[in-house]
Amino acid sequence: MSQKHEVPLAGGDRPGLRADCANCFGLCCVALPFAASADFAVDKAAGKPCVNLRADFRCGIHANLRERGFPGCTVFDCFGAGQQVSQVTFGGQDWRRAPGTAGRMFEVFPVMRQLHELLWYLTEALALPQARPIHDDLRRALDDTERLTRGSAEALVETDVATVRQGVNALLLRASELVRAEVPGRKKNHRGADLIGARLKGANLRGANLRGAYLIAADLRNADLRTADLIGVDLRDADLRGADLTGSIFLTQAQVNAARGDTATTLPAGLTRPAHWS
Ligand code: SF4
Repeated sequence: MSQKHEVPLAGGDRPGLRADCANCFGLCCVALPFAASADFAVDKAAGKPCVNLRADFRCGIHANLRERGFPGCTVFDCFGAGQQVSQVTFGGQDWRRAPGTAGRMFEVFPVMRQLHELLWYLTEALALPQARPIHDDLRRALDDTERLTRGSAEALVETDVATVRQGVNALLLRASELVRAEVPGRKKNHRGADLIGARLKGANLRGANLRGAYLIAADLRNADLRTADLIGVDLRDADLRGADLTGSIFLTQAQVNAARGDTATTLPAGLTRPAHWS
């Protein structure tokens, strides 16, 4: 999925956590599997290069991914894990010229991606003034996670990512509570809820807890999602036309890319309106 993004990912303040496909050996287009579906035109096994991956590790159909049946590639974000594995963990040695490294490199990539995703969220939490009471804890978690990303390939594949994620999640949840506590009134809690196809047009979801909710194809037109916690929310094909997401937290560009929206959709700072939105 190298060169996959239709729009630049947010990350001006998080440069190392922004995908840099020019310094990656096309790892997401090789290491990860995908199945023929509405998101991908063909099946691909983990560790096998995508048929569209060029010799220079660029995508041969980058400009037409949606039209060619690969919209799934436009909503994937490695959070900078690709260049970290390629240039730091493996010191710039690519899997084509050094095939002996391929297996281990492809094992490391998904681990690094998860660690970089946690770094992304921790960095966002540290920028939230309301989370100041836990900034020391957030900073410690950030430093610890960064240290893991600098480890050897062997150390990385041995990393207990689930435990790391658990500790970070507890901090992110606390940060979320501190932010949403400033929203007046009763806030909705839809954590992990199945809201697939839900009719939420014009809904008041301000300050809501939507962590991990399934909002696939939900009608969120003109919904008030200000200051909502959107971490891990599945927004594929959700209709965000006219919705207000100002100040929503832990929303990523990949989530936005997967949704539908228009010029009236208001996004939180740092995220960009996808090219395919009307
Ligand atoms: S179509 Fe293949 S090469 Fe192109 S971004 Fe997707 S996985 Fe990568």
